[in-house]
Amino acid sequence: MIELNKLTCQVDGALIDAWKTINENTKGTVFIVDNDQKLLGILTDGDIRRYLISGGRLESGIKEVMNLEFSYGLVDHSHKELLEKLNERVKILPILNKELQLVDFIEYRADFYIPVAMPDLKGNEFNYLADAFLSTWISSSGEYIRNFEEGFSKYCTVEHGVAVSNGTVAIHLALKALGIGDGDEVIIPDLTFAATINAVLHANATPVIVDIDENDWNISPDEIKKAITPKTKAIIPVHVYGQPCKMDSIMDIARSNNLYVIEDCAEAHGSEYNGKKVGSFGDISCFSFFGNKVITTGEGGMCITNSAKLNEKMRILRDHGMSKTVKYWHDEVGFNYRMTNLQAAIGLAQLERIDEILDWRRQLENNYREAFKDLTNIKFQLILPGREKITWLVSILIQDNKRDKVLQSLNKMNIDARPFFYSLGIMDIYKDYLFSNEKSLKVSKAGINLPTNPSVSEDTIERIKQILSQI
Ligand SMILES: *Cc1c(COP(=O)(O)O)cnc(C)c1O
Repeated sequence: MIELNKLTCQVDGALIDAWKTINENTKGTVFIVDNDQKLLGILTDGDIRRYLISGGRLESGIKEVMNLEFSYGLVDHSHKELLEKLNERVKILPILNKELQLVDFIEYRADFYIPVAMPDLKGNEFNYLADAFLSTWISSSGEYIRNFEEGFSKYCTVEHGVAVSNGTVAIHLALKALGIGDGDEVIIPDLTFAATINAVLHANATPVIVDIDENDWNISPDEIKKAITPKTKAIIPVHVYGQPCKMDSIMDIARSNNLYVIEDCAEAHGSEYNGKKVGSFGDISCFSFFGNKVITTGEGGMCITNSAKLNEKMRILRDHGMSKTVKYWHDEVGFNYRMTNLQAAIGLAQLERIDEILDWRRQLENNYREAFKDLTNIKFQLILPGREKITWLVSILIQDNKRDKVLQSLNKMNIDARPFFYSLGIMDIYKDYLFSNEKSLKVSKAGINLPTNPSVSEDTIERIKQILSQI
């Protein structure tokens, strides 16, 4: 990265000084400042060329030639606001402090790396983290844990929350608390992140992988019915990519077959089915707060439940299975699945802003939808009646087997788009557990997740559109 002084010239210099500076910095631009580093004007190689052609001389003063009107950013502008001021014409933007002194700059590059996700930590995250740190309660006791557990479970309209070290162990803890293990079958969808099936296998239970519905990309109630056997103990519906599962049918099936429901809500914080938050249907529901999820604690997870008994059981299992009344007395073989107060501090600050975070996510998805509305070769996730999906990662299907080509082009442009999860049933380590995956195979092969982070600008969306319209 070029230094700021290679981009600046003093205002009392001659045009030749600006010319030399531009030649050396190869950026085609020079910022003109006074003795106090206050930005007074800008000169480009084009300005100088035009001046010379019209009979001007390189010995002239910079002051007479420089542009007095120019775009600039301020230090307290967000990265996104700054990026939005850049374009093909304004390729380099000076950044000024309150005194209008030149302190930094930002450059337009067509190949800016656009990550698929990025945590949004603009609120009290750092303050609470520092507070937890300074309190010395940096391990797994402390106020923030209780407050985060209470706050998040309340947000989901559920009684109890048990914070854990990540979303995968949340599912494992739920299975163990429900007594699911050896010889038990657990029905899961074919299209999900592998943590869902891994947790079942780590509990020594047998996963049964069933197909999805093509409309919501989530576990199919009809396939669940077909896969039930006398050994079936539980269903784990996963609200994939923020879309709530068909919870009324799933709960009906569970009730009439005496099955537990563990919701995997790792990708759907805040989404609703028939006006009820996901996570409020199952016996236990599991969330992840990994860095790319809707809200994050770095690593982290939570189990929520309305059952006081399951809450108690999970708290004991989370803490080595130790008796709550007799220290160092163990009635069960437990785990250390605790979350730290530091993680919970970040989580609590994220929770304060969850509506704001869900808003910018929804708005960004709407911007993509609006920009791509004339493209006939792609399909967005469906907006379904009775379902209030949230935007985790903006997800689309690409027609005609062109998915991999699109991904290649995007990745070449430094745009981090991702393929959908592979069908679990096609992987060697899971294929013995496959019941059905016909539709999942199709969706999995066609889907991509588009960058969904607060710095995605209209310009980025436009560049993605270019690629999609060329295939
Ligand atoms: C992220 C995720 C998990 C696991 O969460 P971690 O916190 O990464 O362990 C589980 N299930 C699904 C569907 C996920 O997307």
